[in-house]
Amino acid sequence: MIRNEKELFRIYKTLYQSLGPQSWWPGETPLEVMVGAVLTQNTAWSNVEKAIQNLKKSGVLSLKKLRALSLKKLSQWIRPSGYFNLKAKRLKVLIDWFWTRAQGKAARLKKINLASLRKDLLGVYGVGPETADSILLYALDKKTFVVDAYTKRIFSRHGFIREDESYENVKNIFEKALPKSLKIYNEFHALIVKVGKDFCRKKPLCSLCPLEKDLGFLTHDSPLTTHDRFNDAKTYGH
Ligand code: SF4
Repeated sequence: MIRNEKELFRIYKTLYQSLGPQSWWPGETPLEVMVGAVLTQNTAWSNVEKAIQNLKKSGVLSLKKLRALSLKKLSQWIRPSGYFNLKAKRLKVLIDWFWTRAQGKAARLKKINLASLRKDLLGVYGVGPETADSILLYALDKKTFVVDAYTKRIFSRHGFIREDESYENVKNIFEKALPKSLKIYNEFHALIVKVGKDFCRKKPLCSLCPLEKDLGFLTHDSPLTTHDRFNDAKTYGH
């Protein structure tokens, strides 16, 4: 079953009213957001925080210092984020791109149109669509919707998409359904991450989740079955 995408905006409002503003991205500067967007690949944010703290404490979280830092040293500082050798290489390439493309000035990148900048970023080593859109939305104020694994899990369980739907298709579905607003794109992705972390786990905690009522829209052949919900209730005593 694929539901009417217009209902996505109603879901956004439900989440915003229940969980409040999330005040993302947790980063003080566009550079810090870019660094965080690479470090968060395949790891929990708590590990990214430790890596960013290491960079801050060492006084190297500036474009000039990061460019001068050896790959070996950089990988040591970001070790808590996992895959640190690979991520150090990716960071170095992204930082060089930021320097050559805009001399490290986010304001210059903001002046470039979204389609062209997104294409450019996607050509940078180690930058996939989720990383590119996170940088564009949260560091550069571009209206592009970020999709992650939680988005696919939650909205396939609620019958809007298939779980194996492509990144671009999911992004298009959300962008068509929502008002083209930086604030809504920003908050909705952050709210989705909160729901994914706190409730919509592999074994969902539906009875505690603000979207539980929305499951009533689903039919018996929906991706999350009555059986799943019954097990959830049994497991968590609700
Ligand atoms: S936990 Fe349940 S109600 Fe909440 S988003 Fe996941 S499937 Fe929906």
